[in-house]
Amino acid sequence: MEREVVYLPLGSSWRIQLYENDLLRAATLYGLEGRTINLSFPLCEDSFDSSRGQFNALVLLDQIHELRKGSDLYMGITAADIYVPKMNYIFGIADKNMGCAVLSVARLIYAQYGASSSLLSERVLKEAAHELGHLLGLGHCSDHGCLMSFSNNIMEVDKKKPVICDRCRLKLH
Ligand SMILES: [Zn+2]
Ligand SMILES: [Zn+2]
Repeated sequence: MEREVVYLPLGSSWRIQLYENDLLRAATLYGLEGRTINLSFPLCEDSFDSSRGQFNALVLLDQIHELRKGSDLYMGITAADIYVPKMNYIFGIADKNMGCAVLSVARLIYAQYGASSSLLSERVLKEAAHELGHLLGLGHCSDHGCLMSFSNNIMEVDKKKPVICDRCRLKLH
């Protein structure tokens, strides 16, 4: 059976519903069906680091993994700011073996005051597609225009095109 991409809202979900179409488009880039779970799950309490005021993405990955059913790819979508140890923040993280990823829209949608809604949509699409690429086995790409290139900050996200380069596409097959 074809795998689906299941988007699971973590924490307050109203911001995520705004980006549902972008998330579904990210799945389409890989020829996959996507669906969004309407119910939102509370962010697991253990993930919150009160000294940083941020949520540990590794703990959230475990939480999503526990909610995962079957072989579908699960991506938790949150508006909370997330981090992994040794990084100030991250946009997202994926674990291929777990079949799970976490994407935070926090820095994508608040980074620039006055950014157009289409720019915000494109950022969500690109970073969701980036994490999906990892779930499908792709690593980081050295082509800065490819959505599989690593983004350290929002300028680098905006530099990428919402497509995967030919080299990455070949690797998928
Ligand atoms: Zn990456
Ligand atoms: Zn590439």
